[in-house]
Amino acid sequence: MSELPYIPFSRPCLDSAAIEEVVECLRSGWITTGPRVERFEEMLGAFFGVSGVQCCASATGGLLMVLIALDLKPGDEVITTPMTFVATLNCIVLAGGVPILVDVQPSTYNIDPELVVRAVTPRTKAIVPVHFAGQPVDLDPIYDIAEKHGLRVLEDAAHAIGADYKGRRIGSFGDIQVFSFHPNKNMTTGEGGCVVTRDDKIRKQVNLLRFHGIDRDSVPELKIQGLPHYDIALAGYKFNMMDLQAALGIHQLPRLAEFNERRRHFADIYARELAQCSGLILPQAPSFFHRHAWHLFAPLVNTETVGITREDFMLKLKRVNIGTGLHYQAIHLSRFYSERFGYKRGDFPNAEYISDRIVSLPLFPSMSSTEHERVITAIWDIFRERS
Ligand SMILES: *Cc1c(COP(=O)(O)O)cnc(C)c1O
Repeated sequence: MSELPYIPFSRPCLDSAAIEEVVECLRSGWITTGPRVERFEEMLGAFFGVSGVQCCASATGGLLMVLIALDLKPGDEVITTPMTFVATLNCIVLAGGVPILVDVQPSTYNIDPELVVRAVTPRTKAIVPVHFAGQPVDLDPIYDIAEKHGLRVLEDAAHAIGADYKGRRIGSFGDIQVFSFHPNKNMTTGEGGCVVTRDDKIRKQVNLLRFHGIDRDSVPELKIQGLPHYDIALAGYKFNMMDLQAALGIHQLPRLAEFNERRRHFADIYARELAQCSGLILPQAPSFFHRHAWHLFAPLVNTETVGITREDFMLKLKRVNIGTGLHYQAIHLSRFYSERFGYKRGDFPNAEYISDRIVSLPLFPSMSSTEHERVITAIWDIFRERS
């Protein structure tokens, strides 16, 4: 085993201001949903230029609440991608929908809008594009299809906070977006997420769904007097965010631009230093104007030319104390989704090609240049060894 310190594929960047805010929150006597969540939501509202951002316990909870709010009927279809975290599909199923997968573009790993068009049926209710790795999906054609067929668009923006599509911030336009504040994501609240929408009806539904369906506005004259009376509008979940979590978020959001710049810096160096490495196929940028959030730097291991599997590659890095991630194995090949929906290998060749080769290299803002160089050197060593 190598004596060098371990480099994880991701690590949160929490400063002392964030830590002190948590301590202050603990000392304040109010640790669950309260003034800090309210403040964090206002900050997010200013960031996205939208009012009523709904923070919640996780992006998974956010996706589920939005899909429940869309009121899917048995047999209603939701079009999405097999190259995503399982939460995207699980939420569609849990909300009573049928996930309809379409293949991704081989270059960007993002959902292919031309295949979305072909997958629309009279049962289609919504499209759930995923901004893979923080690289925006080509949204114009997606929204065109949605408008033409009267569909909702729920952007799984778990990777994409701080990304821009054609000069506009993801979350600042369109139908509905869900962001994640999981520790591996571009900014964190420990666990957490938020729902952003310009649709008052969806926002109100999510607001009720995230806390038991409790409606405190139902008895306004008592609310004004500060009395705790409420009515129940619907059967809701317990998906509220705690002030303890928001305490971190309040100090993460102002640093997001700096974090993402740091991610871009390292991604650029990876791209430059690994460009000549025949062992890897590097991620490609789409042709439209955009800003990548660089949640992941995930090349493909060129298994054919170098005669090494992705797993060999990951193990060799592990042996020199370098962590990697696997984002993701195409969902349609998983036991549940293949058994339940009849998906099989061969259905989505691009997703499968990517799924068999993809690997996430270490990328996080607090990485040092020395750590970053160690990763690049280790990668070259692996492929040099082979050739
Ligand atoms: C992380 C992630 C989620 C879920 O986020 P949580 O906050 O952990 O629930 C959903 N979709 C994608 C694409 C993700 O990467």
